[in-house]
Amino acid sequence: ETRADILRETEMLLRSPICCILGHVDAGKTKLLDCIRCSNIQEGEAGGITQQIGATYFPIENIKARTMVLKADATIKVPGLLVIDTPGHEAFANLRSRGSSLCDVAVLVVDIMHGLEPQTLESLNLLRSRNVDFIVALNKVDRLYGWKKCPNAPIFNALKQQPDFVKTEFNTRVSQIITQFMEQGINTALYYKNKSLSDTFSIVPTSAISGEGLPDLLLLLVQRAHKTMQERLTYTDQVQCTVLEVKVIEGLGTTIDVVLVNGILHEGDQIVVCGLQGPIVTNIRALLTPHPMKELRVKGSYQHHKEIKAAQGVKISAQGLEHTIAGTALCVVRNSDDIEALKEAIMHDMNDIKDRINKTGVGVFVQASTLGSLEALTEFLKSPEVNIPVRDFSIGPVHKKDVMKASIMLDKKQEYATILAFDVKVMQDARQLADELGIKIFEADVIYHLFDKFKGYVAALREERKKESEKDAVFPCELKIVPRCVFYKKDPIVLGVQVLKGIAKVGTPICIPSRDFMEIGRIESIEINHKQVEIAGKGKTVSVKIVGRNAEENQKMYGRHFDSTDKLVSHISRASIDALKANYRNDLSKEEWNLVRELKDVFKIV
Ligand code: GDP
Repeated sequence: ETRADILRETEMLLRSPICCILGHVDAGKTKLLDCIRCSNIQEGEAGGITQQIGATYFPIENIKARTMVLKADATIKVPGLLVIDTPGHEAFANLRSRGSSLCDVAVLVVDIMHGLEPQTLESLNLLRSRNVDFIVALNKVDRLYGWKKCPNAPIFNALKQQPDFVKTEFNTRVSQIITQFMEQGINTALYYKNKSLSDTFSIVPTSAISGEGLPDLLLLLVQRAHKTMQERLTYTDQVQCTVLEVKVIEGLGTTIDVVLVNGILHEGDQIVVCGLQGPIVTNIRALLTPHPMKELRVKGSYQHHKEIKAAQGVKISAQGLEHTIAGTALCVVRNSDDIEALKEAIMHDMNDIKDRINKTGVGVFVQASTLGSLEALTEFLKSPEVNIPVRDFSIGPVHKKDVMKASIMLDKKQEYATILAFDVKVMQDARQLADELGIKIFEADVIYHLFDKFKGYVAALREERKKESEKDAVFPCELKIVPRCVFYKKDPIVLGVQVLKGIAKVGTPICIPSRDFMEIGRIESIEINHKQVEIAGKGKTVSVKIVGRNAEENQKMYGRHFDSTDKLVSHISRASIDALKANYRNDLSKEEWNLVRELKDVFKIV
């Protein structure tokens, strides 16, 4: 065996790494993908790039040719790179198996003019939670004022061509963005300055319009895959395959687009996939990829395959796939396999999510289009800074039955009688039922927006309840009359008082325990130095206007019915204490709650 043979053999044993592109909307994910696909190669399939289902395959020769300018390491052994065609986190989230990602390396696209944006953070969290290695493409460098275009040049060369003021702006923005990443607990550095690949993520400045930095990005992707993931990329016969999308195709019915990460699929194979109503067992009718020749690529025309080897994106046509859930695994039944065990294993993912939702039975209802996005959403809601409990979930459009399920919360906790619908349709009749029952449905295609809407709703609800209970909630206070400051003795009473304990608040009913619990009216207004205030805290000396609520109270007169030796206190009740606890728990200090307890004894409230 020659060295070349051995090399060839090891090459055979490695599969292509799978790469996803993530980032905020408009950061340039799609454009960057287009640019990777064909920038300096004219017309289509040149250089061996092949269009697959949901993915584009780049043979290593192509990548080597395109990165030659960098005089790069020629010992890369991976056969090529498989880039998933649908950018964004949905595809990424669906490329999963048992909670871990099948994406080997990701590109996180950040707009150099905008820095980190909400979906950048969302992507970042996903990448971290799945422990996926990534490279930051700092895109749109050509938008820096005064940028001189250097089409498809390595970024270092392109930067050298720039006037000083462009370099300065570039450096400022890069360091700002590095700081933003640091605030997220992530170390990053420009890749040519990155000395510590194990704990620092590389940044590659790019332009998806003129191609600067593209050679660097490609090289980094395969190098990264090659160096850090040789173990992961070893080819095996064990089928590892994930459903990315479920699509109805004219003439084929419902098909599934899958990524075959490892192993071989054959026409006629018996397969098991995860369905909304349980496992689906069926046989592969056809294994399809787009036609290799562009001229033949008319709509609905696919190339059929007897077998397909990993890693590849394939369309599978088979009977009974209608209710398949995207984001779940596909497995192949071989002769010796126990089909019942496989069915159970396939449903494991769904059950896994069921296990992770709130056990107390109190929480919101969530709905997403695929298992991957559902998982991303529940993970987000679970994170400590968000912390919204989930009671139940469903996949696909929101139907009446989902609204019914959410309505269980109406009696338990109104704010949870809510459906958080992530990137799914809401059926008309479901919406109508929700309106009738008072179920809120929040829709968004960005997880953060869903959270913001829900948060806003909960805050508004709390505020509303606070208002409702304002009449009932009584803040505790103990007031001492200042004898020289009695302005009106009766109807209304206007007095100078010192707040001995608690909080004097407009609206508080006032009572005098030492005079047989005599009631003298409500605090109508409070003034400090001729300025009206809502509340006055302990130690303050203020003037209060007390207005009687009925004829009897209106009769009460300073000097006759009470005097400066009497203490005035808030008249509290069981109901007022409950209202305080429900809506103002955090508005009162420990000391103020102690006063509530004291007054409770004074008024003999049980
Ligand atoms: P996506 O939402 O992340 O997929 O973003 P797109 O790829 O659709 O890009 C959004 C917009 O930014 C489009 O108008 C692109 O033409 C533009 N764009 C993307 N990349 C670049 C770039 O590198 N430079 C400039 N100047 N514009 C870009």
